[in-house]
Amino acid sequence: MAARRQLIAGNWKMNGLTGDGVGRAKVFAARVGAAGVGRADLVVCPPATVLGAVGEAIRGSGIALGAQDCHAADSGAHTGDISAAMLADLGCSHVIVGHSERRASHGEIDSVVREKVVAAQRHGLVAIVCVGESLAARERGETLELVGAQIAGSVPEAADPALIVIAYEPVWAIGTGRTPTVEDVARVHAMIRRCLSSHGLGGDQQILYGGSVNPGNAAALLATENVGGALVGGASLDADDFLAIAESCP
Ligand code: PEP
Repeated sequence: MAARRQLIAGNWKMNGLTGDGVGRAKVFAARVGAAGVGRADLVVCPPATVLGAVGEAIRGSGIALGAQDCHAADSGAHTGDISAAMLADLGCSHVIVGHSERRASHGEIDSVVREKVVAAQRHGLVAIVCVGESLAARERGETLELVGAQIAGSVPEAADPALIVIAYEPVWAIGTGRTPTVEDVARVHAMIRRCLSSHGLGGDQQILYGGSVNPGNAAALLATENVGGALVGGASLDADDFLAIAESCP
């Protein structure tokens, strides 16, 4: 079986006004249109306020549009929230759910994340489900147990395999410049693979690594067994860095 293309997803977080986002998206689109990014599929996840404008800017480039969160309900009295239906209507194909920053600052527990995955899939969106241990859990030697429990709690029983991607993001590696060793990443990804198979999700399910990925460390991380791409935060704001990461895919 031919190796599956890797997925490189850029999480722009809460950065940039319309001009910044559209400017960046146009640079990405021009660079990808001119050269292509051979072995990777690319998705950018800008702030919700610029999804429409960024979607226009990347139209036809082959770069997909993703959001950073969705609500579990399709509509209703949820002031300030955005539904998966609305994201699909805007042209999104992907949505990040359960990012550790939302788990920490919005109290998103696994059952909430699971409902969001169901909502995303109901509207044909690929849910990028984030899991990862805190530094304290890692130091207590609880990484596998904790990440395994997050997978069990966050992945719906009847998840559509075509519409789910896992992102292993150790919380202590996000935005810190620190990364686990490739051996640690391989160990956690192998465990996630086993958990997914008990959910009936096959051996080619994409499992991304996220946390301080940059052009210098991407090749080694992306070549690690069971790593199917990367979720990139800070480095996804720079076209040179983001595309260099994508070009590092084996
Ligand atoms: C993230 O927040 O998803 C992330 C991976 O951030 P960074 O690459 O900046 O560590």
